[in-house]
Amino acid sequence: MDKKNITRRKFIAIASAGTASTVAARGINIFGNIDRKASTLAILGGDPIRTKRFPVWPQPNKQIEESLVTTFRSGKWHRFESGAKMVSTFEKKFAELIGTKRCLATGAGTQALHTALYSVGVGAGDEVLVTPCTYISSPQAILLCNALPVFVDVDLDTFQMDPDKMEPLINENTKAIEPVYIAGLPCQMDKIMNIAKKHSLKVVEDACQAHIAEFNGRKCGTFGELGCFSFQSSKVLPCGEGGAVVGNDDELMDRCYAFHNIGQPANKSSIKGSIIGPKYRMTEFEAAVLLPQFDTLEEQVNLRNKNAAYLTNRLNEIPGIIPQKLCKGVNRGTYYLYGFRYKKEYFNNLPRNTFLKALRAEGISNTTMYFDRLNKQHFIEHTLNSKAYQKIYSKERLRRYLEENNCPNNDQLSEEGVWLWQWFLIGTKEDMDDIADAIVKIYENKDKLAKL
Ligand SMILES: *Cc1c(COP(=O)(O)O)cnc(C)c1O
Repeated sequence: MDKKNITRRKFIAIASAGTASTVAARGINIFGNIDRKASTLAILGGDPIRTKRFPVWPQPNKQIEESLVTTFRSGKWHRFESGAKMVSTFEKKFAELIGTKRCLATGAGTQALHTALYSVGVGAGDEVLVTPCTYISSPQAILLCNALPVFVDVDLDTFQMDPDKMEPLINENTKAIEPVYIAGLPCQMDKIMNIAKKHSLKVVEDACQAHIAEFNGRKCGTFGELGCFSFQSSKVLPCGEGGAVVGNDDELMDRCYAFHNIGQPANKSSIKGSIIGPKYRMTEFEAAVLLPQFDTLEEQVNLRNKNAAYLTNRLNEIPGIIPQKLCKGVNRGTYYLYGFRYKKEYFNNLPRNTFLKALRAEGISNTTMYFDRLNKQHFIEHTLNSKAYQKIYSKERLRRYLEENNCPNNDQLSEEGVWLWQWFLIGTKEDMDDIADAIVKIYENKDKLAKL
């Protein structure tokens, strides 16, 4: 436990863990509004802290509607239609926003990752380092290239891939690193890039949650050979389904283009002749929905950062609640998710599920890690048992892979993690107080929950 980062109040509570009820009895006044704290828990029939909705997401507006209708009426629904310019304009503007020479729009973030990994040369027999604390697409994209996702355990403070755990996993088959910015918070990219350089590994960034997030003054998506983004509805720049690859290397970007276009290179491409590839193109409608949102993205991201900082200060006061920390060097996150760890020892050993139910009853909907123990999920073994994998990899190598596929910190995070969605953070300071007050209320009344 890092004593520098805990408040006196929290320290007292930690010091008396196990006798946490004495702390409650002493009546720690974590927030000023006694009425709220003293009222009956909603799950036990009392009034909830919050009945108001959090902001809705995505947020349709007049500008998006007009852009969509204009595209619809133009009859140019597809990027190759003569005169169509939504997708190409989007690509130009997104590259400018992120600070890369080029951008290729795709139909999804997963498609962007598959395209990028394939294009840097990830293929049969290769290994790619990735975190288990991520959306399922991050390892799926590696498997789609017939390669093996090698899971690097996370740091329990930041929830990010731990760079200190990477080098022992690197061997002659390691081809690339796929850093993920979980919650849209940058991971330790200085260290990760040094490791990549030292071992001549390609870097494909999964920035699907990290639009305009910054580390050491640089935007996520600009560190490696290629960066990948998602515009799926829940993301901070949404259009239903959509994605993009960004990069500075023309030849690599030309290869991405050909791959995403059923292997057909663009005119004036450095790729000569057709190659193999799926069909991963973005439609004009998706770009039409994205373009007007350039006007609101930055303001909303800044608001999320401000609200997240306030919420973290409040949650740091509550024993047993440990918010996700920022890595050293982070200038700005996206807060696609707001995460914290729930330590049940401070809540009379109430199971996390009881805590989550009580929190939901107070009007704060939430989710656990959206993929518990991702490195152990069925799709891994399913793929390893496929015809292709059985032919590419020896039985011994697959056996060893499964045996060594362990991430104890991530297992713990899968048990303790609680996530709130990004749209909780685009409202007011009072919204943040509601979240914190609801958790304090549960903390103060935890004795009454024991029998649930
Ligand atoms: C959303 C997401 C993806 C996949 O993007 P889609 O657009 O849903 O295909 C990949 N990685 C991470 C970390 C994501 O959050």
